[in-house]
Amino acid sequence: MFDNLSEKLDKALHVLKGHGSITEVNVAETLKEVRRALLDADVNFKIAKEFTNTVKEKALGQNVLTTLQPGQLMVKLVKDELTELMGGDAEGINLSGNPSIILMSGLQGSGKTTFSGKLANFLKTKKAKKPLLVACDVYRPAAINQLHVVGDQIGVEVFSDEGNKNPVQIAQNAIAHAKQNGHNVVIIDTAGRLAVDEEMMNEISNVYKAVDPQETLFVVDAMTGQDAVNTAKAFNDRLNFDGVVLTKLDGDTRGGAAISIKSVVNKPIKFIGTGEKMDAIDVFYPNRMADRILGMGDVVSLVERAQEQYDEEEARKIQKKIAKNQFGFDDFLSQIQQIKKMGSMKDLVGMIPGAGKALKDVDIDDDSFKHIEAMIHSMTIEERTNPSVINASRKKRIGKGSGTSVQEVNQLLKQFNQMSKMMKMMQGGGGKKMMQMMGK
Ligand code: GDP
Repeated sequence: MFDNLSEKLDKALHVLKGHGSITEVNVAETLKEVRRALLDADVNFKIAKEFTNTVKEKALGQNVLTTLQPGQLMVKLVKDELTELMGGDAEGINLSGNPSIILMSGLQGSGKTTFSGKLANFLKTKKAKKPLLVACDVYRPAAINQLHVVGDQIGVEVFSDEGNKNPVQIAQNAIAHAKQNGHNVVIIDTAGRLAVDEEMMNEISNVYKAVDPQETLFVVDAMTGQDAVNTAKAFNDRLNFDGVVLTKLDGDTRGGAAISIKSVVNKPIKFIGTGEKMDAIDVFYPNRMADRILGMGDVVSLVERAQEQYDEEEARKIQKKIAKNQFGFDDFLSQIQQIKKMGSMKDLVGMIPGAGKALKDVDIDDDSFKHIEAMIHSMTIEERTNPSVINASRKKRIGKGSGTSVQEVNQLLKQFNQMSKMMKMMQGGGGKKMMQMMGK
């Protein structure tokens, strides 16, 4: 996420971080670089300029040149300002209605339907809600179908009325249906267009007036940079929405939209979409995003995700197995599956401070576990529980069965042995032994 911007900001601030003597000249030079990095990330010119001016004022106000660690202070000022620009505090969504009505708006292709599904899934699994998804796109049967596919995937009911060409009526019928069937959240997916047009705006504002939503969200593709900001402005002028959803932040997004949108429309970013799958949704926290942009990682989110997936009973079971030397490939597999549930590898690595930068040229492939899983699946139960029986001919068979090579099987066995050894040492409080092994 925002790799390019992170890298450029890091370079810009590098001078200050490293050098003892900092002069007014190199502060100015640094800020110029920061501004350039923001512009390259497609941040609006005016916002970029104001940003660096504010940082400069604050730096001078705090006598940055005479502090002990001027570099650190500058980084902090930039971080604080970035956080502020993206909205300050995180804002939740209003779920006070019964049912709470959430209206989705945005252009076609922005990711509206996908996000409607993600939000329904999020509210169902994390907030114990019973959502109803509503297909209000009366122009594209494929869109209605798509919502049904999404609904089936996450086990959420979808309300649609294929013959009806009146979105206001569909929405009203859906709300009546929700009340009758105990749905406490109604998520209305509306029709989008390829560009902002009057008819679409009229249609969505009619739905808005008729259903009086607690929350109107505007969905926008972050990859479109400045266009995203302009579209947001056009929608906000007509719809006065409550919050923004930025999708496709997993791609090669430059970051401009995330940084500029709040200050242009004065509405908070509430959620981000980070993938095509139903669980690729995150609450937007401006301070955590600022940390990530500045390459400081996002340990809080990482720990949260780990906690969500942490299964205490499973952990205890594994611990016992390690102590008894019974940790096998099946356990290894279940560990891998837990890690995978935490999100895409690239996303996770980006949350580790410094790792994004260190690994920026490494191709982190979400399929990297696939080979490992295939090899384990090609093992017999005996081989999984007691890997020491895996001899040359078994290696050959496993390689063949999993579409990998003997070398890959060897590598997996080596990694597995190393990991088992390390786990055993950590169990025995053997920090010292481990240090010895690492040659310290
Ligand atoms: P709609 O026309 O606004 O309803 O857009 P869709 O929900 O159909 O999404 C358009 C395309 O974007 C689809 O191919 C989605 O799979 C994809 N998409 C949606 N959200 C994300 C996201 O957060 N990341 C990525 N990589 N793709 C997404």
